[in-house]
Amino acid sequence: MELFKSMNTNAGGNSSNSNKPVEKVKVLILGSGPAGYTAAIYAARANLSPVVYEGIQPGGQLTTTTEIENFPGYPNGITGNEMMEDLKKQAQRFGTDVRFGIASSTDLSSRPFKVTIDDEKVIEAEILIIATGATAKYLGLESEEKFKGQGVSACATCDGFFYRGKDVAVVGGGDTAAEEATYLAGLCNKVYLIVRKPYLRASKAMQERVMNTPNLEVLFEHVTKEIVGDMTGVNGVILTNTKTGEDVKKDISGFFVAIGHQPNSDIFKPWIETDEVGYIKTIPGTSKTNIPGVFACGDVQDPHYRQAITAAGSGCMAAIDAERYYAENK
Ligand code: NDP
Repeated sequence: MELFKSMNTNAGGNSSNSNKPVEKVKVLILGSGPAGYTAAIYAARANLSPVVYEGIQPGGQLTTTTEIENFPGYPNGITGNEMMEDLKKQAQRFGTDVRFGIASSTDLSSRPFKVTIDDEKVIEAEILIIATGATAKYLGLESEEKFKGQGVSACATCDGFFYRGKDVAVVGGGDTAAEEATYLAGLCNKVYLIVRKPYLRASKAMQERVMNTPNLEVLFEHVTKEIVGDMTGVNGVILTNTKTGEDVKKDISGFFVAIGHQPNSDIFKPWIETDEVGYIKTIPGTSKTNIPGVFACGDVQDPHYRQAITAAGSGCMAAIDAERYYAENK
């Protein structure tokens, strides 16, 4: 699910903004995952009166995960939703103004930075913290597009419920795919994990969990050729065994894509430097972007770690960098 609109970049297009109401804020934070809320907690405690726009997926990607067992301080684990609710409350406790709304375009050509929200109003911010996260990728098959929402999903924890007792497939070989496959195995009759390589990229612990789940079958060296179905939705998938070249059909009702993510940086691209994938470049060891006063944190700038704890840490860095910048450039 997209956190922030990417279709209307409207770079520098301030003329269309001329009739929109304008609100001035000190610190604007875009995104409400662990990075955005941690930045908000620190910025609020530093008297920077942050305003957070939550984006399309309030709480970010963690709200689509089940149990989080590796965030320090939770010996018994915590659900993604609970953690994000707690982070939001903590940010609000110190005065963060948390709002529904989606950033639809930006003009970062000069300070104050202009961010249009929902195509309706313009926020002029002295400081901008970008914490817009990343969005799930799809395979790009026509049949995948056709059955989106009718058997094709990128979020097992959101949609797995609908496939209780049925057979499903998950594509991908990383931690997300392994996690989603084991989660689905608890709900479904049978889960196929379709992996294009002869091995999983997931962590050893997740690999063990996959291999020890009896109703989960890993199909190594298989790629998806076509998702098949009818008016009622998906009823099968045709896979190609890349070793033998043979096609095989599996009868399934649900097809879950878990092949990684795309950073949500499109609306900033005219101004902010990104790498070739779209991850925002920051000066190493800081949250500083190429524009002084604009900081980035969390998955939108992190192609490597992408953990809740690293996102939270980088959100803290962004707020501290912002505080110092504000003190020097009031
Ligand atoms: P990854 O980038 O780690 O893995 C993507 C997987 O999808 C790879 O196996 C890749 O194959 C496969 N893939 C990519 N494109 C295609 C395609 N077109 N067709 C078939 N397969 C494809 O993404 P994840 O989302 O799994 O993880 C992202 C990061 O988040 C990682 O650092 C991960 O460790 C972390 N994470 C941690 C969790 C936790 O600690 N609880 C939970 C979830 C994620 P190939 O290997 O061939 O490139």
